[in-house]
Amino acid sequence: MTYARGVTAMPDTVELIRAKREGGRLADDDIRWLIGSYTRGDIPDEQMSALLMAIYFRGLDAAELHAWTDAMINSGERLDLDGLTAPTVDKHSTGGVGDKVSLILAPLVASCGAAVPQLSGRGLGHTGGTLDKLESIPGWRASLSNAEIMTVLGEAGCVICAAGAGLAPADRRLYALRDVTGTVESIPLIASSIMSKKIAEGTGSLVLDVKVGSGAFMRDLDSARQLARTMVDLGGAHGVRTSALLTAMDTPLGHAVGNAVEVEEAVATLGNQGPDDLVAVTLALATEMLRLAGLNADPAAALADGRAMAAYRAMIKAQDGDPDAELPQARHRALVTAGADGFVTSLDALAVGTAAWRLGAGRARKEDPVSAAAGVICLAKPGDAVTTGQTVLELRTDDAGRLDRARAALDGALTIGPEPPPRVDPVIERIG
Ligand code: URA
Repeated sequence: MTYARGVTAMPDTVELIRAKREGGRLADDDIRWLIGSYTRGDIPDEQMSALLMAIYFRGLDAAELHAWTDAMINSGERLDLDGLTAPTVDKHSTGGVGDKVSLILAPLVASCGAAVPQLSGRGLGHTGGTLDKLESIPGWRASLSNAEIMTVLGEAGCVICAAGAGLAPADRRLYALRDVTGTVESIPLIASSIMSKKIAEGTGSLVLDVKVGSGAFMRDLDSARQLARTMVDLGGAHGVRTSALLTAMDTPLGHAVGNAVEVEEAVATLGNQGPDDLVAVTLALATEMLRLAGLNADPAAALADGRAMAAYRAMIKAQDGDPDAELPQARHRALVTAGADGFVTSLDALAVGTAAWRLGAGRARKEDPVSAAAGVICLAKPGDAVTTGQTVLELRTDDAGRLDRARAALDGALTIGPEPPPRVDPVIERIG
């Protein structure tokens, strides 16, 4: 088969795979051709898998990464937000356990005068997806047309919805392939995947919440810094004002991990009853988003006086949800109790995320359904005093058969010692 560049496909692709495998660079034209051909289905998965593995080991330099991201953006449409008068700003989290920040942050920042277009994906593995959480609200719709996105943004100032199939379609194919070929954990591939979608979304500014710790993609600070710096540079190079906060993900954020239970905690936070760590991370991200958007507003005041709650209710209603409806409740509950007196010294985020996933809150494959009611409530967190027999975790599920495997995931997840651990600020540093 002959392609536009006048060369046969197989030898050409093999040549490029070999070049990257040997540590060479890919030219901009070659990158455009590779991404375009793969998106159209002209390059088979086995060749793209080999190339992704070569990139996993050899990386992409800044110019290659720029061209790779550009090609992914240009594989589809761009959302046109120019009709909005308010400055647009979005947040993206690299994913954590109990991370319900978006549900509070989008309306909070909107209530301070920005327009927040948050186009999201669904959860995979032990980290939950924002859309899955909101879908536990009766009636709420994740799939909106471009015209509906603009209407909701106009009415509520913020929208959280599914990224349409037309946005960066190359990423859809590449991400699915990376998922089954052991090539997800590559900084240039993660950075281009996230940033291509966010740039195509059309936001003017972007704050990245790069999670660090056992429950995050990035387990150590150095890799998190490198990912954050790579994405901040990519955003800037594409005309999107971008900064990043590195935030802790060794222990779940807040108390609730699951779908409906996280919506409940987010609503409590909008009603000024939120846990300290969740409030701290949300306010830090809001402050950064408002700074990038050029707005001089106090997010703590907007949270305290109910403006953020009003924007949340408006957003849910504009997407056909009932913010007053009762959320699904699990049929079965099981308790985990403290085995000693003392202070909780650690509660492992990955273990809790895995338990919630096994209870039904998460999915193993993209097409799996999730349970709205399943999850884990962390009744004790690091620093809390506990006594023997006190309930520290509550497991919720609709399927009692899932409880044993969830309990197994939690084996050794919570440790108790005679002294409280040092207090850690969940916001580690800012890069931008
Ligand atoms: N999230 C994405 O959208 N892409 C990745 O590669 C990793 C996390």
